[in-house]
Amino acid sequence: MRDLKGHPELCAINTATLGFTTPIAQVIDAIARHGFGGIAPWRREIEGHDVAAIARRIRDAKLEVTGYCRSTFIPAATTAELRSNIEANKRAIEDAATLGAKSFVMVVGGLAAGSRDIIAARAQVAEATAELLDHGIEHGVKIALEPLHPVYAADRSCLSTIDETLDLCDRLDGGKSDALGVCLDVYHIWWDPYLARAIQRARGRITGFHVCDWLLKTRDALNDRGMMGDGVIDIPAIRAMIEGAGYQGLVEVEIFSAADWWTRPIDETLRVCRERLAGCC
Ligand code: ZN
Repeated sequence: MRDLKGHPELCAINTATLGFTTPIAQVIDAIARHGFGGIAPWRREIEGHDVAAIARRIRDAKLEVTGYCRSTFIPAATTAELRSNIEANKRAIEDAATLGAKSFVMVVGGLAAGSRDIIAARAQVAEATAELLDHGIEHGVKIALEPLHPVYAADRSCLSTIDETLDLCDRLDGGKSDALGVCLDVYHIWWDPYLARAIQRARGRITGFHVCDWLLKTRDALNDRGMMGDGVIDIPAIRAMIEGAGYQGLVEVEIFSAADWWTRPIDETLRVCRERLAGCC
């Protein structure tokens, strides 16, 4: 396993970690100043801005764009709405290409409004991902499907497990393409009793690795993630599995923390991220 001590360049910061309180240009500069090797920006920071100029600033800061976050949710109550969701994602894939992103991160969405049909939601996700995969190939952007913890199955992701995500990948590309992969986030996968086996199966498909921690007394399933080392996830054990399955990309910090880390100055958060990546990951 790679040694992260003294190697922040092997790590990336997902800008959500910094709470979207600071303009993207300053965020880029701060992440580079702290020595990190990559950044994962969000669409809310990019869309409506000069994407090429932001891409240039990231390149000038010598940061890799690990992933562009994230897809518009797919499942929809009507065909028109489904088409509109797919088209929004195509435009985002084009921005990901401009940014030079290693991947476009897909959080696929839960149930359509008013629906109880999770099977239909999954079918829409499969259909849309097939189309977005073609668009990604055309624009040179990998599609990274991120399975989410099942607590989000209703409202954020009907893709819940690594195996289910790999099944979908295999179904869509016959196991052949390197344009379709999975993004593995410790917050979503740590509880899985078959984790080691699933990660081995993901060899060649792992397009991203997100770290944070699961706080024992979680107050909010979405926005109360912990800093690495403050919760119950054995992050080094999971990183060993992931690197054992061939992953050599950056280790990306992604912490949604409305009541804690988002209230702190970004330089403090970045300093602690760097320490914890070295000591707890
Ligand atoms: Zn994630």
